[in-house]
Amino acid sequence: MAYQIDPQKCETCGACVEACPNDAIKIKGLTAVIDANLCIDCGSCETTCNSGAISAS
Ligand code: SF4
Repeated sequence: MAYQIDPQKCETCGACVEACPNDAIKIKGLTAVIDANLCIDCGSCETTCNSGAISAS
């Protein structure tokens, strides 16, 4: 399992990038993207996202 970001909701604010303790999130174009291989399912990004764009898959 890994968290995912809905590109339709992502506002590219970068808050999740800062919140991730494992450096799993990068900004790519107009959306943030989570590397499933680095995500440790901590949930920090979901809590930080003001757009409701991040959810567990
Ligand atoms: Fe990073 Fe935690 Fe979000 Fe996974 S759940 S992308 S480890 S902040």
